[in-house]
Amino acid sequence: MGKTPVIGLLGGGQLGRMLCEAGGPLGYDIAILDEDGCPAKQINVNDKHVTGSFKDAAKVKELAARCDVLTVEIEHVNTEVLEEIATKGVRTASGELRRVPVHPSWRTLRLVQDKFEQKEHFKAQGIPIASQMALSGGEALADSLREAYEKLAFPFMVKARKGSYDGRGNFKVRGPEDFEPAIEALGKLPLYAEKWVPFVMELAVMVVRTEDGEGNCTGIFPYPAVETVHEDDVCKTVFMPPRKVDAAVRAKAQKVAEQVVKSLWGRGVFAVEMFLLRDGSITVNEVAPRPHNSGHLHIEAVPYMSQYKAQLHAILDIMPKSMKLIPRASQAIMLNILGGAAADSHDKLVKLTETQYIEGTDAYLHLYGKVSKPGRKIGHITFTTPSPDVDLEKTIAPFVNEVDLMRQ
Ligand code: ATP
Ligand code: MG
Ligand code: MG
Repeated sequence: MGKTPVIGLLGGGQLGRMLCEAGGPLGYDIAILDEDGCPAKQINVNDKHVTGSFKDAAKVKELAARCDVLTVEIEHVNTEVLEEIATKGVRTASGELRRVPVHPSWRTLRLVQDKFEQKEHFKAQGIPIASQMALSGGEALADSLREAYEKLAFPFMVKARKGSYDGRGNFKVRGPEDFEPAIEALGKLPLYAEKWVPFVMELAVMVVRTEDGEGNCTGIFPYPAVETVHEDDVCKTVFMPPRKVDAAVRAKAQKVAEQVVKSLWGRGVFAVEMFLLRDGSITVNEVAPRPHNSGHLHIEAVPYMSQYKAQLHAILDIMPKSMKLIPRASQAIMLNILGGAAADSHDKLVKLTETQYIEGTDAYLHLYGKVSKPGRKIGHITFTTPSPDVDLEKTIAPFVNEVDLMRQ
């Protein structure tokens, strides 16, 4: 390999695009496996990209053969081929068999792909999760749902164990009348049931994990806790700091997230999604072992080490031995831009961000280069302020209003 390491990336959506935005000034070559014209390839031209699907084992090997390290922007990848590449090796152009490190580890990816197994793992580590039980498939599912009711009471969540995002594999069961619709909606998939969590707030903490060559954790660096607000199971806004949450709870969220990420494998950034309950306790919802929507605001709020720069530095094993991830902004709010009914529904919001100057508040627009479709994440805006006294939520209300209008 050449002097500058080549990073292979499975998936070239918006997370990959922002990884490339961070990697450009640092001089790293990022080779992307995804379709031509995907958001990440649009802004990163080099001769190392591979065209195809990150689910295709042959393409993953083709990518690995030209890279020094592999990483992902999505956890729904083929972990068998990643295990083979990391442990046995991949045949390079010159015919040698060469091992290519995979970060986060394929073990982590395999574990988290099954949300039920992921949380069984956390439970075994003493990490608090909502009660859950595996559901039987086929004919036995209806009986299994009745058992879930006996164990978990109504309401409970039926969730697809694998492949879900933005709540697409989730179904809330409020009473027996929801059994049939739940079976109708998700019955063909491997499922589990999860106790409904009457949370007062959702929190998330991004954590950077470093490791030595033997797989031992050498560093855990949490970002500040943020509050995530979901609408129809899709993240709408992220608040840093969380609204009306005292420092002790924020610190507890960081501690829980550290414990979660310590229990996993590999280098990189990990997002830990959590529920905050009325009594101040925290349960873990799930982990995404990669850059995450809840960490977008760090691009501007923790500019010396955004989650994307942290991902690059961690996987290249050049992270400082000690580091504090302290925001340079007093407050930040991230607002997602989802596609509206028409292809240009978001134009007004974009215009507003471009033309509106707000004293004491900075607005940063990120568009992902994606075709707009209703409900699709096509961009975000981060608002920051150096002042602890500005009512940032109030200041940005016109922007949130535009987002709400787009949904109608
Ligand atoms: P993503 O990976 O995009 O975050 P997902 O499809 O894996 O989403 P979850 O994170 O399981 O879905 O759930 C999506 C949202 O649904 C959560 O952020 C939360 O708002 C709500 N939710 C999930 N599980 C529960 C639960 N047990 N009780 C109450 N609300 C829940
Ligand atoms: Mg998920
Ligand atoms: Mg989630």
